[in-house]
Order: sequence, then C-alpha cells, then structure tokens
Amino acid sequence: MTVLVVGGGITGLTAAYTLGRAGIPTTLVEAADRLGGKVRTESIDGFLVESGPDSFVSYRPAALELARELGLGEALIGPTQPRTVWIRSRGRFVQLPEAMGLVLPTRLGPFITTAMFSPLEKLRIGMDLVLPRDGLDRDVSVGAFLRRRLGGVLVDRLAGPLLGGVYATPIDELSLMAVVPQLRDAERRHRSLLLASLASGRAAKVGGSGSPFVTLAGGMGQLSGALVEAIERSRGVDVRMHSTAVALEGRRGGFDVRLATGELLRPEAVVLASPGPATAGLLDAIAPIAAAHVRSITHGSTAVVSLGYRLDQFSKPPAGHGFLVAKGEPLAIDACTLSSLKWAGRAPDGTVLLRVFIGSHSPAVLAGSDAELVALGKRDLALMMGVHGAPILARVARSMGQMPKYTVGHLERVAGASAALAGLPNLTIAGAAFRGVGVPHCVAQGRAAAAQVAQALSGGVPDPV
Ligand SMILES: Cc1cc2nc3c(=O)[nH]c(=O)nc-3n(C[C@H](O)[C@H](O)[C@H](O)COP(=O)(O)OP(=O)(O)OC[C@H]3O[C@@H](n4cnc5c(N)ncnc54)[C@H](O)[C@@H]3O)c2cc1C
Repeated sequence: MTVLVVGGGITGLTAAYTLGRAGIPTTLVEAADRLGGKVRTESIDGFLVESGPDSFVSYRPAALELARELGLGEALIGPTQPRTVWIRSRGRFVQLPEAMGLVLPTRLGPFITTAMFSPLEKLRIGMDLVLPRDGLDRDVSVGAFLRRRLGGVLVDRLAGPLLGGVYATPIDELSLMAVVPQLRDAERRHRSLLLASLASGRAAKVGGSGSPFVTLAGGMGQLSGALVEAIERSRGVDVRMHSTAVALEGRRGGFDVRLATGELLRPEAVVLASPGPATAGLLDAIAPIAAAHVRSITHGSTAVVSLGYRLDQFSKPPAGHGFLVAKGEPLAIDACTLSSLKWAGRAPDGTVLLRVFIGSHSPAVLAGSDAELVALGKRDLALMMGVHGAPILARVARSMGQMPKYTVGHLERVAGASAALAGLPNLTIAGAAFRGVGVPHCVAQGRAAAAQVAQALSGGVPDPV
C-alpha cells in the first residue's frame, strides 16, 4: 500500500476511486460494516428509504460528472414538476413563492402577491433597496447579515428554515462567508440583495433554467454503490470494513497508522476522510495545531424519520414536494419531504413516503427513543396533513454529533488546519466538516485530496519526522 484513505463515506470512496484509477496502490479503512457513510438507501417493502441525502445540486458539477463517469448517466432523474414547496408559518401553510433564488425572489411578481408576508412586512423587506452596504469585511452570521438588510421576518419565516436545516445550525450562528458568500458579493456589487437576485433571475432566463436538484433512479446509494464497484474492479485498491483507525504517527518515509484491532499500517501518504471529530483525534499526535483547528469545528445532530402511509390514510390527498417549518411554530419537526411525490419510484402504488427531519428546532427530543421520534413525526403530520392511523413503514436514522456546523469563522478554522498541515503534503484532510457539506462538495474534496497526495508522492516529500 502507498496511500491509506481513512473513512468510506462519499469523500473517502471518491478519493480511493481516483487513486485507484491513477494506479496508486491504496487501502481504504472503514470503521463500520458498510460503505457510503451518510449516503444510505434501503429498499424496504417497496419503499426506497434514504437515511441521508436524497439528491444533490447539479450546478456544482463534481457529483454529476462522477455519476456520468461511473456509467450512471441514464439513471439520473430530476424531481417531478411543478416544484411546490410550502412553509408552515403562524399555524398555516403558505406556498413558497415561485421563482425563488437562494432566499430572495428572482422575479418580483410572485413575491409581491405572496401571502407569506403582510404589506408592512414586504415594505420592510423592500428597505433593502435603499439601505447602504454594511462595509464590513469580516465574517458575520447569515442571520445578522439578512436581518439588517431585509428584516427579521424574512429570516425567521424563510431564510432560517431554508438554510438552517441543511447545516444543522441556527441561522444566527451560520457563517455568511462559508455558506453563502455570494450574498456578501451581491451586496458589494449591487448594494441591494433584491436587485442582485432579480438580475440573476433575468440572466437565468437568458441561459435557460430547470430544477437544480438531481438524484438517481435507485436512490443516492446507487452512486456510492457504483463507486464501490468501480473500486473493486480497479486492482490495487484494498477495502477493509470494521477497521477503525485510532492513531497516526509520522515515521521516516511515511506514517504509522494503528487500527483498533491493533494492526499497524505503514502508508507513505494518508487521506483523512473521516468525520471532523475522528479526524481531530487522528491528528492529535502528528499535527496538534491542525487537530485543535479541526476540533474547533463543532458538530450537531439530526434525525430523519421516514414514514410510509396508504393514500387512504390522508384526509385529503397530499400535494407538493414538502414543507419547511418557520421559527416559533409549536411543532417538533423541522421539515418534511413528500419523497414519493417529489421523486418517481419511491413508494408502491397507493402509498406515500414522507421524510421528516427532527433536531434543529428541538434538539432535546433527539435524546428520545426511535419510537418516541416516530410518535412525534406522526403527531405533527396528523396535525398538519390530516394523516391518521399507524404508518405502514417507520424508519429512524440518526446522525448524532456528526453534522458539521459552519458557524461564523468557519473558513478561518479550515484555513488554520490547512496551514498547520502545509509541511506535510502527503497527509490531507477532506470531507463534510471542511469545504462544503453537500455531496458535490464532498466528491470535489475527495478528488482534490487524491490529487494532492498523488502529486506529493510523485514529487518526493519531506519525511513527517
Ligand atoms: C440526514 C442528512 C441529509 C442530507 N441531505 C443531503 C442532500 O440532500 N444533498 C446533499 O448534497 N447532501 C446532503 N447531506 C450531506 C451529505 O450527505 C454529507 O455531508 C456527506 O455524505 C458526508 O460525506 P463524508 O464522506 O464527508 O462523511 P461520512 O459520510 O460521514 O463518511 C465518513 C466515514 O468515515 C467512517 N469513519 C469514522 N471514523 C473512522 C475511523 N477512525 N476509521 C475509519 N473510518 C472511520 C464513518 O464510519 C463513515 O463511513 C445530508 C446529510 C444528512 C445526515
């Protein structure tokens, strides 16, 4: 073995696949009994249940390109049309206005007529047209930035639910520069965020548009599965399950990596693609400053409760792709995707698959049992969607302490870790904790990590000791 990849999530799999294709002898160690990490699709009684991601964006091309490269081009599917999403706010459902960009309208018409905001609230949002730039260069929270320009109502009712859940972080802690630097850029260039969003809408119309989301007919597990198959086909990559890396030290010509089994591996280069907390622990001995930076990236928790119902259990037929819950609603759930209405092939005929997210609004409830989380999901759905009776499928997937929080200053923490590792080009860190949580970000990081160690090896690297 020349390179050791630690962690068999989408980041580590991509790195191992890329190294294998470059003909570099590689070993991938995975702590669990399966590969894919947070990407997990299961077929249960005709339902296609996603425990982690259910899709990815196509405007960051890394995942789309990888899927095509792996021969999955034909399996790529977009969501059903039209894309109707609701916000649960002040006890009722309001449709997300058509033509929304990140958090602002790309066309004025639907926003002016939306029932989501009162005329007075719309006036406050419109103050963005005249407010000066904040003139700040440092990172601030997305919440603080948007509250100043657009008012608290837009943040609590729209931007918070849209962004906060993705990062398991309240919007008032979320880093503007790490998550939506384009908003700061828009303010710099156009001053008004509304004018910038409307301009981007006009540009998109010229270039054409569609839904930015794609998935695979067989679920996201089809992507990780195809990667695993490609890795198995490429001779030179050895994959080991039930193999937890517990210690990493430098030696002449490479590294000593100890597994929990006691076995010692002696690679020349290492890609750490484990979640942040595990990566910090592995860096402690060899690069304590990098370890401290990585450890300062905190992690939160979330749960996905998948519930299957017969159509006749709904008092009226469900519609749309799902809904987000605004701040302050007396509900336990944060959001719900109507998976089988959003994507083809997710549930048997006559049934509906729902995916409920819990943890952002009420983190304390995650301490409850699976049965308690299912009961909360059922209760909130009964209240909001009139669904009654026991679900015919109930499945809980938790990500406890594994959701990286991109809080204010995130980019400095990542830059600090990278700088502390600069003298060790044959040791690199990658994955959701660092340069983007989305599957395309992780794929891109896996590729970049593989390229970095391949280049370091070909150039001859200084000994880590
Ligand atoms: C509920 C949920 C919904 C999501 N939805 C979306 C979505 O719709 N679209 C999107 O783009 N993204 C989504 N994401 C984010 C995305 O799925 C993740 O950020 C991404 O899959 C993380 O990949 P990773 O390889 O960096 O980490 P992981 O998937 O966490 O993989 C890390 C792997 O390392 C292993 N490991 C840990 N410690 C060790 C060790 N010491 N030794 C060996 N192995 C170790 C773990 O067992 C794991 O398999 C979602 C995430 C979650 C949790």
